[in-house]
Amino acid sequence: MSLSPSRVFAELNAVRPPDQPSPLMGTAVVVGGSVAGLLAARVLSDYAYSVVIIDRDDPQLPGARAGVPQGTQLHALLPGGLLHLERLFPEFREQALARGAVEAPPASRRNYLDGRLKVVVPDDADSLAGSRPLLEGLIRQQVLRLPNVKTVTARATGLVFDGAAVTGVRCDVGGVPGVESADLVVDAMGRSSKLSDWLERAGWERPVTRRMAVHLNYATALFRRPAVTPASTVVLALNTPRMAADVAGAAFFAIEDGRWMAMMAGYGDNRPGRTGEDFVRRLRKQFPPEFGDVAGQEMLGDVQTYHHADSRRRDFHALRRFPAGLVSVGDAVASFNPVYGQGMTAGALHAACLSTYLRSGPDLTVPAHQYLALQKVVVDAAWSISTSADLALPHVDGPYPRGHRITSWASRQIIAATVTDVTTARRFNEVVSMQEHPRSLTRPGVLLGAVRANRRAR
Ligand SMILES: Cc1cc2nc3c(=O)[nH]c(=O)nc-3n(C[C@H](O)[C@H](O)[C@H](O)COP(=O)(O)OP(=O)(O)OC[C@H]3O[C@@H](n4cnc5c(N)ncnc54)[C@H](O)[C@@H]3O)c2cc1C
Repeated sequence: MSLSPSRVFAELNAVRPPDQPSPLMGTAVVVGGSVAGLLAARVLSDYAYSVVIIDRDDPQLPGARAGVPQGTQLHALLPGGLLHLERLFPEFREQALARGAVEAPPASRRNYLDGRLKVVVPDDADSLAGSRPLLEGLIRQQVLRLPNVKTVTARATGLVFDGAAVTGVRCDVGGVPGVESADLVVDAMGRSSKLSDWLERAGWERPVTRRMAVHLNYATALFRRPAVTPASTVVLALNTPRMAADVAGAAFFAIEDGRWMAMMAGYGDNRPGRTGEDFVRRLRKQFPPEFGDVAGQEMLGDVQTYHHADSRRRDFHALRRFPAGLVSVGDAVASFNPVYGQGMTAGALHAACLSTYLRSGPDLTVPAHQYLALQKVVVDAAWSISTSADLALPHVDGPYPRGHRITSWASRQIIAATVTDVTTARRFNEVVSMQEHPRSLTRPGVLLGAVRANRRAR
């Protein structure tokens, strides 16, 4: 009997590392040493004698790096993601705080929707705020402490096959070709992963890639934080299309080294905040007063921009033929509109899928269908959160899922109710922070509660 997606999602969210390592394989090779690849490597360290992480960037590079161009942009670690990180690395919070990350309990967070302050959810989970290089660097440090994990700085160029199984990765190490042999290869090459091309080149099917064009324009800038940090350290303001604003949203977080990191985003031809002047003016004029306070501080460096064309997912689970010894994690499988902050947490949930799969003692000489089925649950959940919100944007023209009209009406009711109703806000937060499956919002009681709250508010 197959389990419901909500049940699978709940079980993945409860996954913990095993008490004892139980090696199933000799070597696992992870291609891509960013957040999703590092978390997969952490899981594999319990099931492989040795784990090799291949990345084209030198792991010692501090700060933002070429392989992760989004690294300069504001990155929210959702409470669901933090829970996974703390289970995988028991010292994660302590180490993050020691490096200057800022604790973000519910009382320190403020959320605005169309300029209205949302109700405070008293026992919502807490999180941590830090720059993307800080979070990624800390995960890397924890993973590379494991005695059976090592990194290789190289560009992966293809796969090695033996019949219907992948047995290694071809690499280019400073112009010299080489091979890393593996019992299991993990593709963690991010949203531009070349795995589909490599499969096709070797005579396998390529997965269908589904896309939703969002044309999102991000801009992020750093400001000096005053010596006494204000009580609100994580502030988000989202404008729905009803506001007819050219800035779709803005946020600022307190991060390490006494700085604020602030971002704003627009869609299509709206590219707010490309210059320092424009960035500061809009924060002051178009957002609640806290944003103006941040904009009043000294700007550190230039505004960093980033264009995100689409959300995309590659449906590996739907392939009829797929080789053994191969799985994919993170953005290589699905990457979403970043304003919802799901990417790193989705990567952590993919690591939980890998952990569940390996714990079942699978036969690695056959394709990892069980893993792909678990991962589909996570991807479907994240995809539905992100695309259902994006379909409400005037410039997004599909693809529309079945029942779109009714689900979009229901989600408008729920989102509106999060401004005034604690119960709806808590349920909604649990879903958007990926601790609960989105189906939990479709229960009749939840919708009815939201409709009633909206009537009361009117
Ligand atoms: C503007 C923006 C803002 C975002 N904000 C958030 C946020 O607030 N919260 C959140 O959780 N997520 C956010 N994300 C998503 C987040 O960045 C990703 O989900 C996260 O980095 C995990 O991705 P990944 O590890 O799968 O891939 P990536 O981080 O893209 O890393 C891919 C890695 O693969 C390596 N690589 C690629 N090809 C090769 C090759 N051939 N050989 C060797 N190495 C290779 C690269 O060097 C890189 O290290 C945002 C994304 C964007 C674009």
